[in-house]
Amino acid sequence: MHKMITVQDAVYSYSDDEHLVLKNITFDVERGEWVSIVGHNGSGKSTMAKAIDGLLKLTSGAIEIDGTALAEDTVWKIREKIGFVFQNPDNQFVGATVADDVAFGLENRHVSHDEMVAKVDEALHLVHMEAFADREPAGLSGGQKQRVALAGVIAMRPEIVILDEATSMLDPEGRQEIMQLMRELKQTYDFTVLTITHDIDETAFADRILLIDDGELVAAGTPEQVLTNGTDLVDRGLELPYAERLLNQLNLLHIDVPQQYMTNDQVVKWLC
Ligand code: ADP
Repeated sequence: MHKMITVQDAVYSYSDDEHLVLKNITFDVERGEWVSIVGHNGSGKSTMAKAIDGLLKLTSGAIEIDGTALAEDTVWKIREKIGFVFQNPDNQFVGATVADDVAFGLENRHVSHDEMVAKVDEALHLVHMEAFADREPAGLSGGQKQRVALAGVIAMRPEIVILDEATSMLDPEGRQEIMQLMRELKQTYDFTVLTITHDIDETAFADRILLIDDGELVAAGTPEQVLTNGTDLVDRGLELPYAERLLNQLNLLHIDVPQQYMTNDQVVKWLC
C-alpha cells in the first residue's frame, strides 16, 4: 500500500507555556483513502491539518507526504500536492468572477491560456457550477461558494484534498451537497481525502475515522467501529450520528428498530 500522509508522534504547542495542542499523534492515510478527523471544537483538528499542509511546524514529531519528509526545503513542493478548502468561503475568493477565481491558482502556475480555460471549464462542470462562470462569487449561496472553492482546488489536480470544517457554515442541505459532491469527485479522480469536522454525520462517507479529543488520538477505525460506541462519542463532546438519534427516538415510541449498526443512508432506506 502507498502511504500519502504519515504522521509520527506529532506534538504541537502554540506557545512556550507547554500547553500541548497535539499530543503524540500518529496515523497514516493510504493513497485514495478518505479519512475523517473528528473531534469537538478546540480538540486540535485544525492544528493537525495546518501542520500537514506545512502552515505550522510541529514542536516535535514528523510528517511525510507521499514519501517526502515535510521540511523547510520541501514544503513548497509538498504543498503543490495538497488542495485545501477552508471553513469560511468568503475568505478564499480572489477573483471578480467565479471563472477568474477558479483560474487563480492555475495563473500562478503559468499554464497556457487555452489550457487554463479548458481546466476551469472542466472544474466548474465537475462541481455543477458551469452556469455560474461569469457571476460574482459574493452573490452565491454558501454551498455554491464552497463548490467554487472546491473547483479551484480540483483545477490544480492535487493528490490530497483537505476540507477543514468546509461545511460548518452551511445549512444541512448545503453540507450534504458538499459531501455528496466529494464522493462524486473522488470517483472521477482517485485523490486522497482528509476531512476535518466536529459534525459526526460528515464522517459518513469516510473509509476511516480518527477521533481526536484534547489533542489526543483516542479512537481510529471504520465508521462502523468508531460510530457504534455512542457513549464514547458523547463523552468526547460529540453528537450521536443522525441515524442513531432517529432510531433512539423510534425506540422510545416502541417501534422495533434494527439493532445492528446502520449508516444514515441505510436508515433512510430502512424507513422507506
Ligand atoms: P479544532 O480545529 O479542533 O477546533 P484547533 O486546532 O483550532 O482545534 O485548536 C486547538 C487548541 O489550540 C485550542 O485550545 C485553541 O484555542 C488553540 N489555538 C488554536 N489556534 C491558536 C493560536 N493561533 N494561538 C494560540 N492558541 C491557539
